[in-house]
Amino acid sequence: MPERGRWRRLPLLCGAWEVPLAARAGTGMLLASAVLLVVDGLTTPYAGAAQVYNYLFPLLLAGFAVLLVWFGTRLPADAYLVIPLICSVVLTGMSFAKDDAGAPALLASTLPILYGAAILRAPGSYLLLLYNLASDAVLTFALLPPREAFRSMAYLVVVVGACSVLITRGGTATRQLTDLLRQQAGVDTLTGLVTRRVLDEAAQGAITAAQHPAGTALLLIDVDKFKTINDTWGHPVGDEALKHLAAVLAANMRPDAVIGRLGGDELAVLLPGCEYEVAVRRAQQLVTAVRATPLLLDDGQTLPLSVSIGVAHAPSENGELPGLYAAADASLYEAKRAGRDRVGVPG
Ligand code: GH3
Ligand code: MG
Repeated sequence: MPERGRWRRLPLLCGAWEVPLAARAGTGMLLASAVLLVVDGLTTPYAGAAQVYNYLFPLLLAGFAVLLVWFGTRLPADAYLVIPLICSVVLTGMSFAKDDAGAPALLASTLPILYGAAILRAPGSYLLLLYNLASDAVLTFALLPPREAFRSMAYLVVVVGACSVLITRGGTATRQLTDLLRQQAGVDTLTGLVTRRVLDEAAQGAITAAQHPAGTALLLIDVDKFKTINDTWGHPVGDEALKHLAAVLAANMRPDAVIGRLGGDELAVLLPGCEYEVAVRRAQQLVTAVRATPLLLDDGQTLPLSVSIGVAHAPSENGELPGLYAAADASLYEAKRAGRDRVGVPG
């Protein structure tokens, strides 16, 4: 079973990091290759009946480039390993057809190699490098004297191989850093809960998804008298209280609930596929759970905590995200006004 999973992931490991960028760069690579073939056709043309190839191959690559402009962003990421491979096959095929293993012909294969290094994930880039070096080796050893073939291949392997490895490693490091920053931007460092941005995306997705006939509920949770906690016990204890509350929420919510910190002492829970009445019940359970789970301080004392919760539901109250927040806010205000430590009854 794990083996199967690994093989399933393989295409993802070879594909493009970013599909729109891969599509744009792929168009550029195919057009540049077509230009090279036009130059080749003008300088060392096929003769006789075969001269049709002078136009056919560049047109073929230009045609692929046009298709990529139209359909590129709809292709899966792993298709972008196949596109430079097609380009390589055409370029090497042309060199074979012309019995040409000169430096310009070999240089042409660096286009798909550099494309792979800049656009594909590392395994895809190295696969492309190996394929091109192997086909160049076949070309040179088939057409050139062994000593000359060896010299050409040694230059190609060292120079192009080094470029490919350097670009691939640099790209991988940059992508990993970007992923890390993206991930960090989505996680609140104090509580480990998701940030408002992630919560909003999840809420927007849940509201628009047709697969939740029960709708989506939003709970806005505000800590009661948190300023007093900070003032009385100090800011670090306030921080501990927020972390403690995050753990209480996580322990009392379904696994598919999205729990986030909106900022300050305001937390939120998104409940996809949850009816309004069920959400109100869950909010009441949370109020009870927080009240029943005081924060245990280092010196053994317990710090009682309570929260007020506002509940809103889409689409029964509001079909849009700002409306959902506004309704939850109004409900939270009601809870505070009515004395805190409770769920707000909408007005
Ligand atoms: P209420 O019951 O009406 O909500 O009263 P409150 O005192 O909780 O008022 P409010 O929600 O406006 O207070 C939020 C306080 O949270 C104010 C701010 O100093 C504090 N705060 C905001 N971020 C942090 C944080 O990261 N750590 C700590 N310890 N305190 C924070
Ligand atoms: Mg508060």
